[in-house]
This record gives sequence, structure tokens and C-alpha cells, in this order.
Amino acid sequence: MPDAYSQLLDATIQHLEALKARGVHFVSVSAQALADLAQAPTHKPQRTSHPATSASPPRITSTGFGAAVAIAKPTASNASSTSPARGAAAPPVVGLSPEAKFEAFARLRERALACTKCPNLAAARKNVVFGVGDINAQLMFIGEAPGADEDEQGEPFVGKAGQLLTKIIQTTGLTREAVYIANILKCRPDTPGQSSGNRKPTGDEMLTCIPFLHEQIDLIRPKVIVALGGTAIEGLLGKTVGITRLRGQWQEYRGIPLMPTYHPAYLLRNQALSEKRRVWEDMLRVMERLSMPITDKQRNYFL
Ligand code: URA
Repeated sequence: MPDAYSQLLDATIQHLEALKARGVHFVSVSAQALADLAQAPTHKPQRTSHPATSASPPRITSTGFGAAVAIAKPTASNASSTSPARGAAAPPVVGLSPEAKFEAFARLRERALACTKCPNLAAARKNVVFGVGDINAQLMFIGEAPGADEDEQGEPFVGKAGQLLTKIIQTTGLTREAVYIANILKCRPDTPGQSSGNRKPTGDEMLTCIPFLHEQIDLIRPKVIVALGGTAIEGLLGKTVGITRLRGQWQEYRGIPLMPTYHPAYLLRNQALSEKRRVWEDMLRVMERLSMPITDKQRNYFL
């Protein structure tokens, strides 16, 4: 009689083979499930002679949305979807021990650092900019993509816009170390033939990279996400409606309240106090949502 683990494994393989036969290329697997799989019984399972077990087992990779079991390589059609947020329905990760969470995060980081899925970006980058901060943070900031400074230092938001973001975070009473900061893209968008300048990530680049961010978010499970600028909104929610219309209005990302606000680079370009106040009002909303204390002085900034 096969043990429960072997039965489950056989059933899983059978199910994946059936999906593959129907042309399904990816299935979502939560980071929790991946962590559980990594801790699967170390004894050799008693395999049965069930025909399904003779099929080669599925490869577990990170190429899909959320962590995913890759059943086959993505086709051109599914890789060119215009909605980078299409993986937004993955189940939450619950109940990971601090050690398992730390390990899952470390493994995720290793995979991201070794990624070469966008050959042009991998060839041009100095560093993969994975993310920085507390993996148990209640608040997560998500920007667009690393710029030259971030590429150089391997850390998000360290250039001029980053310094402004740091000030915004500090004005709430928090520190960079107490929150988590990441980007939609982990590599700097290349600008061939140009010695400087930035460009917006392409839809394909976002689609390729965003599974890493999804996994980061699923592991961190912040109480609130702040999306900085239109590209962050596009990457996370698949909405291309302008940031001016969306900012200040709560959205939801995988069950997590998400506040869209202007990118700090915009505030550097547009020095109007009214725009600074708008971002600050968005941050006040975030602070309220997190039940953070708010002083009168904080309430009145930029008025
Ligand atoms: N702009 C971003 O969106 N991200 C960074 O890390 C730096 C600048």
C-alpha cells in the first residue's frame, strides 16, 4: 500500500500531466506550498507502479506568476499579454515559521540574483536590485525600476528620488529599515547607445520580472502597499489609467490594501507644494490604516 505522500505525489503528477495535455503552461503555487514541498519527507517514498509515476516529474521553477510549476515553456502569446498583473490572484502565504520565511526569502533572492530571463537587461546590469528592508514589514513601497544609482549600489531608491522617498518615510516616523522597498523590475532598463538616461520598462519585461515581486509580497504579507507612480500600478494591478486619477484612492492587491501615489521623481520635477501635499495626504491615509500615531504637526505638513 503506497504511503500518503506517494499517493499525493502521483495524483499531483497525473493532474499536471492532464493540464499540460490541455495546453496549460503554468499553475500558481504559493510560496507556502513551495516551502512545504522543500520540507517534504526526506525518506524515499515508496513509489507504486502506477503508470502516472513513470512520467518525468514536473520541474519546480519560478518562471510563472507567483511561484509556479512550469509545465512547459511559455508561448509567445502568453508572454506578450498586456496586463503585467495577471498573477494577482495567488493565495496568501500563511503560517510560515520565521525560519521558513527567512529561508524562502533567501532562496527567492538567490534566484532573482541569478536571473537572465531578459538577456539585454542581464547583459547591461551591474547589479540585480532585489529589494531592501524588513521582511516582516507592515508597509511596503513599490517603485518602477532601478536607475543608474540603484544599479551601481544594488539597492532600490538610493538616488535623488530615493532620497526623497527616504524623507517621506522618515516624516511618517518610520525608517527605511522598518519598511520594505522594491520595484516592479529588478534590473535597470537598458538604454543601448545612450550613456545616460532611463526608460520605462516594457510590458514584456514587467511580465517576466513580476513573479519575483509577487513572491516577495506573498512572503512579506505587508498590511499596506504604497505603489509609487503609474508603472507600479500597471505592474501590480494591470491598470493603465493615469496615476493622477487613481492616487489617493485605496485599491486592493491580492487582498492587501494598496495606496497609489505619485512617484518621488515626479515631485522632484514638479516642486509645487500642492503636489507634495497630495502625496503627504496619501501617506496620512496609509498611517491611519496602519493605526500609526499622527501628530498635529504631521497632519499640517505642506499646508
Ligand atoms: N525609481 C524607481 O522607481 N525605483 C528606484 O529604485 C529608483 C528610482
